[in-house]
Amino acid sequence: MKNNKIIQERLNLINNLKARRIIVSENVYNAMLNVPRHLFLPELNLDKAYIDTPQQIGKGQTISAPHMNAMMCEYLEIKPGDKILEIGTGSGYHAAILAELTGKDGIVYTIERIPELAIKAKEKLKELSYSNVEVIINDGTKGLESKAPFDKILVTAASPKIPKSLLVQLNPNNGILCIPVGKRHWDQDLIVINRIKGKYIKKKVCKVIFVPLIGENGFEK
Ligand code: SAM
Repeated sequence: MKNNKIIQERLNLINNLKARRIIVSENVYNAMLNVPRHLFLPELNLDKAYIDTPQQIGKGQTISAPHMNAMMCEYLEIKPGDKILEIGTGSGYHAAILAELTGKDGIVYTIERIPELAIKAKEKLKELSYSNVEVIINDGTKGLESKAPFDKILVTAASPKIPKSLLVQLNPNNGILCIPVGKRHWDQDLIVINRIKGKYIKKKVCKVIFVPLIGENGFEK
């Protein structure tokens, strides 16, 4: 694809998300405009990079549809300087958006259990100069205790329950966790949890479909 065509397609997609009121804040609009989604996709799917659908990224995993990336970012209310934990690096695309949102004073830790995906994502993020993202190969259901507490935690795979390990690693002062919860491949809800003065306030926001979160506090392999 020619560069001008790519830029125009990205602009059309982001403007469409804004028109549908999925993107509502300027920072999410700008972050999604800045990240070249096509560079995070396998060659085979390049021409579908700016269609609002999930895509295969290999190893049986997917990159979420852009409207889901946008929606989760809006719920997380990311501010410059936030310390963010993402579970499920996948292609690295969403981590790049988070990095744009938190900026050079913030940091994004992103955990992926499949080493091949993590290595590929790490290389891509480095190539695109995202120096505020650290990719870790591990079981993300345990969180990342050594770097806690986190201002924001994003889980991009569906869990059978909300892992306690993540709740306790959330900043007690206005920390936000966004996580899909439900059955292994269906009947899942996107849950947003605000931790205010140490108390957890939970709301179900919509039905979703994500690949399973596999690990000690998630689904079995
Ligand atoms: N955020 C990704 C992106 O922008 O491409 C898409 C994530 S994909 C929908 C979900 C990812 O979660 C998969 O890559 C999967 O391997 C990963 N995953 C599942 N269980 C995990 C776990 N316990 N720890 C870390 N990653 C996990």
